[in-house]
Amino acid sequence: MLVDYHVHAVGHGAREHTLENLKEYIEYAIERNLKEIGFADHDRYLSDLNLDLYQELQKMYPQINIRVGLEIDYFPDKLEEIKKIRYSYPFDYCIGSVHYIGEWMFDADKFKERFNEWDIDELYAKYLSLVLASAQTGLFPLIGHTDLLKIFGHRPTKSLETTFGPFLRELAKTGVVIELNTNGWYKPVGELYPSPQLIEMCFNADIPITLSSDAHQADQVGRDVDKALNIAKKAGYRKIATFAKGKVYFVEV
Ligand SMILES: [Zn+2]
Ligand SMILES: [Zn+2]
Repeated sequence: MLVDYHVHAVGHGAREHTLENLKEYIEYAIERNLKEIGFADHDRYLSDLNLDLYQELQKMYPQINIRVGLEIDYFPDKLEEIKKIRYSYPFDYCIGSVHYIGEWMFDADKFKERFNEWDIDELYAKYLSLVLASAQTGLFPLIGHTDLLKIFGHRPTKSLETTFGPFLRELAKTGVVIELNTNGWYKPVGELYPSPQLIEMCFNADIPITLSSDAHQADQVGRDVDKALNIAKKAGYRKIATFAKGKVYFVEV
């Protein structure tokens, strides 16, 4: 079964949140055989969204399950604000994502020179501690693009086990789901988030997964989620997570 739980209907504020726009997204989802689609725009555009449209959309397209989520930026010092956003609407689920280290939006092309200011292994440790802390809040059943720090090709000099092993074992204890986010294939790093080797480590650590495209426009919906699923199966996965009304479900794939 194919799903896509990370779809941005308004991209980076590039278009209006209208039924017309959403219909285009659903048409691509159906064409790519998705059984479920989860819309999860960035929380900074929340006030631009008309979330009631999704009920209308669901009535128009009974052949696909439409879920409503939100991708929330994790900042360790903004927990109260994050909680307010999280419970401002009965979301089916929310994605917790680390895009910032302090004030630095490290995945933005215009700020990538700032990688040079860091020892890369220390940066990985810092980044992964933030991802773990976001999972430990219990506010996010789904964690976004777990190894996003590699976006421009910066790799830890230490082994994958040294860098990610302890992190993954702690992450497993929180029970969160991670996404196989196909957008990484279209970024400078040109690699699935997380990498296939890391997916094997996640399987061994007993961390559940789901599939996502991180689409920022309609024609990216469901892009390559079938390829990601094949990689997951090779690693040993037989189930993926789905989300509805604040609960997590697992379906065989
Ligand atoms: Zn993100
Ligand atoms: Zn996203």
